[in-house]
Parts: sequence; C-alpha cells; structure tokens
Amino acid sequence: CGIIGVLGEHEVAPILVEALKRLEYRGYDSAGIATVNGGRLDRRRAVGKLVNLSDLLVHEPLAGKAGIGHTRWATHGAPTTRNAHPHRAGRVSVVHNGIIENFRDLRAELGEAGLQPESDTDTETVAMLVCHLLDSGKTPVEAAHGALMRLEGAFALAFLFEGEDDLIVAARKGSPLAVGHGDGEMYVGSDAIALAPLTDRITYLEEGDWTVITRKGAEIFDMAGRRVNRETKQVWLDA
Ligand code: GLU
Repeated sequence: CGIIGVLGEHEVAPILVEALKRLEYRGYDSAGIATVNGGRLDRRRAVGKLVNLSDLLVHEPLAGKAGIGHTRWATHGAPTTRNAHPHRAGRVSVVHNGIIENFRDLRAELGEAGLQPESDTDTETVAMLVCHLLDSGKTPVEAAHGALMRLEGAFALAFLFEGEDDLIVAARKGSPLAVGHGDGEMYVGSDAIALAPLTDRITYLEEGDWTVITRKGAEIFDMAGRRVNRETKQVWLDA
C-alpha cells in the first residue's frame, strides 16, 4: 500500500522505517524492508504494526545503504509474514502497490519454466518474472523493463537487486510514484509526504513511466523504452 526506496549515504534501515511511518495513514496489515549490503540482498518482514518490524530489526539488524520498504494492504493472499513484501526471487526483491491482474497466467508460464512461488501474492509473480529474465542473461535494468512490459493491472513497483548497491528500478501505472532528489542520495516513494523529511525536490512519474535510479540521479523512460523528461518541482510539505 505504501512504497519507499532509498539509495543513501547512511544506513537505510532506520530511514526506511521512518518513511513507512509517514505512509501509515494509508492503512496496512504488515510491513517489510530489504537492503543490499556489500552486494548481498536480504530482508525483514513483520505482520501488524510497524513497531513489530522495528522490534525485529533490533534483534536481527539489516545493514546497507540501499534499500526498499513497504506497508502492505493485502489484496491477494492473507496478511501473513510469508505474504508480506518485499518479495524475493533469486537476485531480485520487489515492493508493490496495487494489483497484477494477469498474475495467474504469468505464474503458470513461470511454473512451466520451473519457478515455484513461496507466497500467495500477485506481487511475487513479478519478482519471479524478473528472476527468470535475469537467469536468461538480461541485465537488471533489461530484466525489470522486460517484466514491466508483461504486467497488466495497476501498480507502483520498486526493484532492488543482489550485487547492485547503487540501483533501484521503479515504475508506475495506475498508482502514483514520486522520485526524490537529495545530495548524493536518491529516493522514491508512493507520495511526496513519505519523502518530506528527506527532500523537497520531487519528480512525479507519469502514467506508464519507469525509472532507473542511482545516487547520481534518475533516468526516466516511457513504456516503449524512450527516454523522457519530467519536471523536478520544489514541493512544500511539513517535514
Ligand atoms: N496486491 C499486493 C498484495 O496483496 C499489494 C497490495 C498493496 O498495495 O499493499 O500483496
């Protein structure tokens, strides 16, 4: 229900949890974060209030300066830890707002290729699809774009990859997504409110846009893969 992504200069776990708190107003039943640390992708997820995720992180900390986070409002699959985001398949982790309408078809197709889901969610199918494309030799950016072109439904998505400490790929169709510009840091979130303590320089993605984010900035593309320019605005919100 809420998405956050940070490529930072500092440890991101507390920043991600703080941003998720600002997305609490949207409602949620579970929450989770994933980070890349020294190339290694890992995640923590907890059902219920964000304090449960914070508690888990005290006992099982998650290091790393690149990460994604999510508050979930379950649409497909019960509100359990197993169904909480981020979802992972092989080298990719994903957070998602919305519904992937064609996930059953995609899941059947991926099943024939030998990939089995671990959750009951529509979202995990997206991770499986990207994983499959990575395994076929595509780069993370190619794999994410390839998967996006296959998705039907409404989504805001953010991907984080094993071995990539300076990369988040994000996309929107039917759900809003904002890119935030910091100093040597970059952010992405469901709305500018989530990013308000971090930056007031915001680029709103337009319908069908997807973006390749590194600490240097964000390159934005349309669904056909053409580079597009979207205005960066100063957004005044109370931090
Ligand atoms: N459809 C996804 C799920 O049920 C995402 C729900 C959301 O937007 O939080 O896991």
